[in-house]
Amino acid sequence: MSSRCSLRPPSAPELGARVVLLCLSVVSSACLGTSTRVLDDGPSSSVPPDSSSPETEPSASRAWDPPWQRHTPHWTFETDHSSELADRVAIALEDAYQAFAAHFGRRPLGTSAMRVLGFKAFPDYRAYCERVGAPGQLAATGFAPSEAGTCVCWDKHDDADHFLGTLIHEACHLYYVESTRRSAPSWLAEGMATYFEGFDADAHGHLRFHHRPRARLATLRKLLARGTAMSLHDLVHLEANALINRDPQRALAFYAASWGYYYFFHTHPNLAWRQGFARYVAETERGVAPDLERHLGTRLETIDAELARFIARP
Ligand SMILES: [Zn+2]
Repeated sequence: MSSRCSLRPPSAPELGARVVLLCLSVVSSACLGTSTRVLDDGPSSSVPPDSSSPETEPSASRAWDPPWQRHTPHWTFETDHSSELADRVAIALEDAYQAFAAHFGRRPLGTSAMRVLGFKAFPDYRAYCERVGAPGQLAATGFAPSEAGTCVCWDKHDDADHFLGTLIHEACHLYYVESTRRSAPSWLAEGMATYFEGFDADAHGHLRFHHRPRARLATLRKLLARGTAMSLHDLVHLEANALINRDPQRALAFYAASWGYYYFFHTHPNLAWRQGFARYVAETERGVAPDLERHLGTRLETIDAELARFIARP
């Protein structure tokens, strides 16, 4: 669970009527609701060194036939990772579905199960990106939607726990798009996805969401202590994918801040701020470019100062 998301401009014939989403550089009505993609990246945000090695490319036309597939009431998970991981993810995705439904208050509009792809290694992920025409996502650990009703990740850190967090992150993006047929501003999209990275799993693999992902929390606390955390004013104008590809360290700060403010606006005791944020989100879902400061009824600098106190508490 670390940095993520970006989006690339849509390819109209490719996306067609399917809706997609996200990561917009500016919160604007011109961007919202148009076809774009959310994507996600790992902490180091770099394309692996073998990405241009001649022996592994080109492979865009190679079809992927993963050995493990799991079908649950709301998802299909396909992976070449392991049978154990497939079982674990199947349980986790269903738990996440219920958590998404409760949080967003709506369900996917389609009737088909959503599809999650989990690649073990980069060459297959790269081949997939090429096959679906998404070369801009190679520096990421995944993105959503990658195809209609589909999201994808790869195990960039060779860590099953981290991989599960990334899968839930992308599944959140996919759920949001499938249930709203809308995009969200980049910081908001990443805020909600990182919010759902915060969970523990019990002995049976079921998830309990606490919405405080340890890595995000640690990063944000460190940046706040140094005085280098992103301000809310800056955050709402940035776009994840551009940061992933140009400035991975700043991308990490972007994801940490996106999580922090999203968490803040859902859990802070100030009811007026929580309600103001809810109105802001509702306007983004109507395709409006809302004024966050107006909805909150206070200056964004005031929120910045309060976030620092809020996040510093145990
Ligand atoms: Zn994301």
